[in-house]
Amino acid sequence: MNEDKLTGLQDRGSFMQRLKLHCEQAITMGHLLGLVIIDLDRFYRINDQFGFQVGDEALRHVASLATGVARKRDLVARIGGNQFALILPGIMNQGHAVLAAAKLFRMMEAPIELCGHKVVMKGSAGIAVSPNHSSNFDRLFAHAERAMRQARESEESYLLSDADADESDDNAVSLEFELESAFVSGDLRMFFQPKVQMSSRRPVGAEALMRWKSGIRGYVPPEQFIAAGERAGLINSMTQWALNVSLQLAAKWPDRFGPQTISVNLSPTVMADPDLIDMVSNCLGVWEVPRDALVLEVTESSALSDPEKNFQKFEELADLGVQISLDDFGTGYSSLAYFRDIPADEVKLDKMFVQRMVSSEADRKIARLVIELAHAFDMTITAEGVEDADTFRLLASMGCDYAQGFFIAKPMPHEEYLLWLKQYDGLSQQGAKFRRAS
Ligand code: C2E
Ligand code: CA
Ligand code: CA
Repeated sequence: MNEDKLTGLQDRGSFMQRLKLHCEQAITMGHLLGLVIIDLDRFYRINDQFGFQVGDEALRHVASLATGVARKRDLVARIGGNQFALILPGIMNQGHAVLAAAKLFRMMEAPIELCGHKVVMKGSAGIAVSPNHSSNFDRLFAHAERAMRQARESEESYLLSDADADESDDNAVSLEFELESAFVSGDLRMFFQPKVQMSSRRPVGAEALMRWKSGIRGYVPPEQFIAAGERAGLINSMTQWALNVSLQLAAKWPDRFGPQTISVNLSPTVMADPDLIDMVSNCLGVWEVPRDALVLEVTESSALSDPEKNFQKFEELADLGVQISLDDFGTGYSSLAYFRDIPADEVKLDKMFVQRMVSSEADRKIARLVIELAHAFDMTITAEGVEDADTFRLLASMGCDYAQGFFIAKPMPHEEYLLWLKQYDGLSQQGAKFRRAS
């Protein structure tokens, strides 16, 4: 059994194993099983406002309340930075699971004094019951997670999954099944979008972006199928595949423009995976790509969902020799205090600011600040979503190091990317210029 160090509860990995066992047992015994997932809303604010120590105390407090609510045979786990879960085997009816959540929330939402500070916690919980919602542990978890998101959106403390009444729920579940079969049959693709150095206009690498063209739905937006992959428990395998494909192809890139990097995105669930370091290290061992050519992109908000754990992971990844990039920077409200401690190599200015900077002075100011901030902490900065020459020029004049965006090139299949690299001859007003193919 693996324990979460801070709270002494079981961690996500061992929780999922136990959930699977409990679900199988519930079916053979003909019992009902309740699952409650709890997410502490805006938890980073407690860390921000009072510091890590109070944040840690708050997590221990919730852990002890949840343990208090649990019966002897129930299982309590910490499944993410600010997420907890309860498995309730052998309940009499759905109401018992709801009652457990209600009891926990009554205690949890009462103000409490921690290290001399008055702290008020808020959370959202989702509840699902096997076999009423699903008897499969993955599906059951997906139902509880979806109910939790609905609770947060409707500002309820907790909600029981309402699978029957919700058609989009069926749709989401079938998206997960379709994705799984697409992944197994090799229907996912990687596209590549070049990144250029602003001063020299030289390509310096590419970001790998996943694509799925479903036979039924056509192109599914990556945000949608990545989220489905997370719910279906597929995202770790998908990422391993993305890393292998990207490294294998990058090993063949020509060096006409000097050393090239390959950036791969890591979602929050992958960051939380205890096997991440081994997985990256194994992939690097297989393909002949210099270690520092691999850049792992983690969004600012994911990195800061559990700073202590994630910064530690960043250090371990850095020890492998790879680079870390903070993606979508500027959207996550991180405080400067955190920025000082993030062991990252690159910041990616979110395209929201980039796209508005020509017309909005406020966004221009933010862009300038982020560029200066990154440089002050010895990180490079890449602007994403650069769509025109004006934005490119403006960013270059602010000292931005690298740019990525439709102005340079859209993400493309690998064969096209190789051709693009071969023929690229700088940038004009309209975007990339090409020399004649030889
Ligand atoms: P992201 O990591 O922020 O990726 C950049 C997104 O901006 C990509 O969207 C890209 O196509 C788009 N983009 C690039 N240049 C421009 C531009 O000039 N204008 C505009 N409007 N958009 C531009 P895409 O490919 O749809 O991916 C969306 C998100 O899905 C990504 O955002 C990333 O969070 C996620 N994603 C994509 N591939 C993967 C993957 O392999 N693994 C994981 N975990 N997430 C992925
Ligand atoms: Ca990215
Ligand atoms: Ca981004």
